[in-house]
Order: sequence, then C-alpha cells, then structure tokens
Amino acid sequence: MTHKQTRQFRLLHFAAMCIAVANFLPSACAQEIQYKEDPNADKRMTLRLKDWDPVPRVHLPVHEVSRAKFYVIDVHNHVDDAQGVNGEEVPPAEVVKGMDEANVKTIVILTGMWGDKLQRVVDKMVKPYPGRFMVFAQMDWSKIDDPNFSQEMVAQLDDAVERGARGLKILKDWGLGVRDKNGKLVPIDDPRMDPVWEECGRLGIPVAIHSTDPEAFFTPTDAKNERYEELMHNPTWSFYDHGFPDKQTLLEERNHIVAKHPRTTFIALHVANWPENLDAVSEWLRTYPNMYVEFGAREAELGRQPRRAREFFTEFQDRILFGTDSEPVPAMYANYFRWLETTDEYFPYWGYPGQGRWMIYGMGLPDSILAKVYHGNAEKIFAGSKGAKR
Ligand SMILES: [Zn+2]
Repeated sequence: MTHKQTRQFRLLHFAAMCIAVANFLPSACAQEIQYKEDPNADKRMTLRLKDWDPVPRVHLPVHEVSRAKFYVIDVHNHVDDAQGVNGEEVPPAEVVKGMDEANVKTIVILTGMWGDKLQRVVDKMVKPYPGRFMVFAQMDWSKIDDPNFSQEMVAQLDDAVERGARGLKILKDWGLGVRDKNGKLVPIDDPRMDPVWEECGRLGIPVAIHSTDPEAFFTPTDAKNERYEELMHNPTWSFYDHGFPDKQTLLEERNHIVAKHPRTTFIALHVANWPENLDAVSEWLRTYPNMYVEFGAREAELGRQPRRAREFFTEFQDRILFGTDSEPVPAMYANYFRWLETTDEYFPYWGYPGQGRWMIYGMGLPDSILAKVYHGNAEKIFAGSKGAKR
C-alpha cells in the first residue's frame, strides 16, 4: 500500500468501527445529530453564572476613538478626592497625562468635603494644574441634629467657595443614609436644607445631586433581577424591603427641591437616576428648566437603548453633561467616546459585566451635539459662578 492508501484505509477502518459501536457509545467517536432536545439538559447545565463568559461571534467593524473629537469636561469624577471614594491615590501628573491623551481638558472632583480636607484637594490638584481640575464641596451630615444646622451649612458652603469649590455635591446618603437622632431617615426635601439650596443659587454654583439608585436595586435580588451579580457582590446596595422609601418617592423628593429652588442649577447625576425610563426624565427636563443631567456610570443603561437615547440627546442637547464616575484612564474615556461618536454595534460598556449582562451600541452623535455635551453645557453652568462674594 502506498502512503496515501494506508491513510485512506485507516480512515475507513476508523469509520467502520464507529458505525459498529455507535449504537452502544453514541458519543465516543460519532455524534449522531438528533432533532429533539436532550431531556437531561437541565442536569447537565452546571456551568456557574460567574464562570460564564461567552465570546460574541458577531463580526463587526470596530472604530477606536482614543481622543474625543472636541475637548471634554468630565463633570463626574472622584479621582484623588477628599473622601477616598476611588481608593488609592493616583499621582496628579499621571492623571493629567491620561487626560491629555484622551483630550480631556478638565475633571470635576465631586467629593471634596469641606474645611481642611477640601483645602488639601485645592492645593494638590486645583492650584498646581490651572484649568485642569475643579472641586465640589459637601455637607457635614453629622451636624444634622444641630439646632442651627441650616446656618452652619450655609457658612460651611461659603467657606468652601472661598477656598475654591465650584459646586455642591450631594451623595445618595441624603435620602438613603442620613438619619436624625431618632433614627429616622431624613427626606431629600427636608426644609433644613432649603437655605443651602438657596445659597447655591445666590453663589451661582450648581448642586450635583445623586438620589436613589438603579431600579433593579429596589427589587428583590433573585432570578428576575438584571443586576443580580452586582447585588450579590454588594448586598448593601439593595434598597429592597429594608425599610427604605421606594425609588419613586425619593425621585419625587428630589424633584420637589428642584421645583422649589428655581434659581438654583441642579445637575441630576446618573441621568437623573432613572436612565431606565427616559420618558420620565424627559418629562422632568421639560418641567424644570434648572435641571441638567449627566451620565456617569450610566453608559451601560443608555448604550443598550441607542435609538431612544439618541432621541433624548437630540431633544436635550443643551441639558446633558459629560460625566464618567470612573477612574480617569484613557481606555475608559475611549470607551465612552466610541459610544457617543460612532455607530459601532454590540460592544462592552466600560466595566462590563459589572452592571448587567448586555452590550451597548454607539449613538453616532453629530458634531453640534457632541461639542455641547463634551464641554459647552458644562462651561455655560460654570460661567454662572459669582465667586466668593459674601
Ligand atoms: Zn459618583
């Protein structure tokens, strides 16, 4: 036998063997295609959710956008803040280098606290890099039971603005964490804060407010929860059934202060904390001319509904600010830019699959909208600042 014949013989021999044993060992060498489902499939599906990491088999063009088309102001960040929200400090020069690469002109550090801690951020980040960083102040909730809480906080805010703060940041603990001495949660529209909201209006500084959290955090952490893995990793992020107000109530309280203080600009963070319901957010933006939104850490939410989101960006192109709420590294920014600028399809949002197992789609926004969202709208707000005149 020639070499070729030997190989053919071996193949034939193997095939014959397979046919012979096929009835006894169907999976050993020949797999017969069957057209009914395996009744034991449920038992065989033992791969754990946390180990499931499917590779998309769709072939699509990829357009990397490492530099934003227009310079950017990232209005939602916590890098090297006073509170240590992001954990480790990054050398400021390294942050600036990444910003230059990505075409990010300015980062707004929202969690600047107050007093000496605020001063440290001003001295370390704001002053040495003119125009590259802004910092916001925060409230001292530990004083909530003081009889003159309102005046104290107004004074603390005035002092912060004198030190260089450019706005006030309210974290979600206002509404979901701050309790008075009786252990009662203080509502977002508690009148004790009215003088502070008014003072922000007088000073011409915005209030960046985070109220409530994703809708899924207010529903049971079970098989129906689209943020199941995230809530398993962070069980304290669930506000379901622990005596918390429901999401709707918190949003109404937030909107109540926006309505009550029309001369104060409110940047309702995370797409007014209801990106899952752009119809509702649109209604609020039509109702409250002093409300703006920002999309930090909500790329996943908006990116999964690109057509609805594009309509939203078109209608409210003068009211949407660029924010990320993420460590400011070039790869993160590139991901956001790709989502905003290209029409690429089915790619992972930044941090996938942390916020849910779905992919996002680019919106391909036109230049006129990009320029406003990247910096124009933020510049308009910050131009309203009247400085630290008492
Ligand atoms: Zn944040």
